[in-house]
Amino acid sequence: MRVSDVVDILVVGGGINGASVARDAVGRGYTVALAEMNDLASGTSSAATKLVHGGLRYLEHYEFRLVHEALAEREVLWAAAPHIIWPLRFVLPHHKGLRPAVVLRAGLAMYDYMGGRRLLPPTKTLDLTKDVTGKPLKPGYRLGFEYSDCWVDDARFVVLNARDAADRGAKVHVRTKVTSLRRDKGEWIAELDGEAGRQSIRARLVVNAAGPWVDDVITGAMGKNGAHNVRLVKGSHLVVHKLYEHDRCYIFQNGDGRIIFAIPYEGDYTLIGTTDEDYSGDPKDVKISDAETDYLLSAASEYFAKPLGREDIHWSYSGVRPLFDDGASAAQEATRDYVLKVDGDAETGAAINVFGGKLTTSRRLAESVLDKIEDVLGKKGAAWTKKSTLPGGDFEPLAFEAEVRRLGKDFPGLPQKLTRRLMRLYGTRARVLLGSASTVEDLGQHFGADLYAAEVDYLMAHEWARTAQDILWRRTKLGLRVSPDEVVALENYLAHKAL
Ligand code: FAD
Repeated sequence: MRVSDVVDILVVGGGINGASVARDAVGRGYTVALAEMNDLASGTSSAATKLVHGGLRYLEHYEFRLVHEALAEREVLWAAAPHIIWPLRFVLPHHKGLRPAVVLRAGLAMYDYMGGRRLLPPTKTLDLTKDVTGKPLKPGYRLGFEYSDCWVDDARFVVLNARDAADRGAKVHVRTKVTSLRRDKGEWIAELDGEAGRQSIRARLVVNAAGPWVDDVITGAMGKNGAHNVRLVKGSHLVVHKLYEHDRCYIFQNGDGRIIFAIPYEGDYTLIGTTDEDYSGDPKDVKISDAETDYLLSAASEYFAKPLGREDIHWSYSGVRPLFDDGASAAQEATRDYVLKVDGDAETGAAINVFGGKLTTSRRLAESVLDKIEDVLGKKGAAWTKKSTLPGGDFEPLAFEAEVRRLGKDFPGLPQKLTRRLMRLYGTRARVLLGSASTVEDLGQHFGADLYAAEVDYLMAHEWARTAQDILWRRTKLGLRVSPDEVVALENYLAHKAL
């Protein structure tokens, strides 16, 4: 087999951790290749609750380092990608099953000030008998707290990190599995099997960011015996028809002490999740169980005036958290912090195995990985991502609405709903996608909802989209709105383009 490439760093896995490491490393001057065995973000990184958050409940588990780092990241990431990341307000209805109000108020004050909040509004107290957020709830709730966190389009967050990495010179191979990693004269020879056929890459260092498969890479590709570092914890979400009209989210604590969120989702829906249970199957087969569905419906029905039933469900999704196994007894108590383990050194060939982590802390995780890379390969450029923007995010965090108006003004012949959606997904790069179009007819074939060929072509050319699933469920969420026939039409178009 030919050795097609020689790089400083090979990243295994195109989830948020792999994409963030690749971006940071190439920006510092290392040569980088990333291999993802399926689509970017096809693993855990498209199945999250999609919050950039400190994690209020992690305070209860004394995870102060994690909460502090995560809180500070909210505004850093919002500024980096104000199209796909934006602030949310969460309402916590108080009741007698919870900690006393004064304790919650103190916890929220800590949450407000621990992370250096600048633009996000602070916590406030609500009278739920009068506030609009009390209306959808069962009668009886009086006191509530409202605090800030942020939303992120998780799958797009991954793709934009990968796009930026590629724009800076990284080689991104999708649908390419790393099947073997063996050491040779202080370096690695990696065998890759994927859309470009089989090839070998020589790398001075390997970053194993395979998420739920991280132990499989250690035992399979690297051929080591019995790695058991990861605890797989499954989490599922329901997407139900919109439950209320206002834009606030809810955080509900259940009788079992767990919390769930209800979050406005994609305009017409409410997202409810998540569950938290140990998982032992193949991560690619994860799906919601009947018991989880019942749990989420009944947990939400504890709070909402109108009980939820299966008929309210429009879609569901599940993912597996690849948590570092710290020996905690309950799934929800296992640490959400990340752990990095270095195997080998510059003499033998080094691998950095990445365990755990969150979307929220992915940029910081990448910086920590880079510290370890520098120990092995020597220092190149300085840390740079804190003040950078992701593709399409080069505008002020509070200027999103102004950017939507500007795009609408520049493309007056296109429906406002479409230009708004494109600004949300692509930011300033929506202009590249739209080119010289002045009406929807100029955007080419229509595939249902407001998806046209111009967007499909853009996603294939710039965002590694290959299948209808990639486009409908990860690059966009138009899968919520298209019919089976429309999916077939899109599949046919993609097959024709691939010829
Ligand atoms: P993944 O996204 O799974 O990426 C690993 C990739 O490696 C996969 O795409 C896989 O295909 C690839 N791969 C594996 N083996 C190979 C191989 N041999 N060759 C090539 N490629 C390979 N975090 C937050 O910050 N906020 C939240 O609200 C939040 N909510 C969550 C809710 C749930 C239910 C879950 C499950 C997680 C949540 N998280 C949240 C955590 C966050 O989603 C994960 O920590 C993060 O996505 C993990 O990313 P990763 O890159 O490690 O793994």
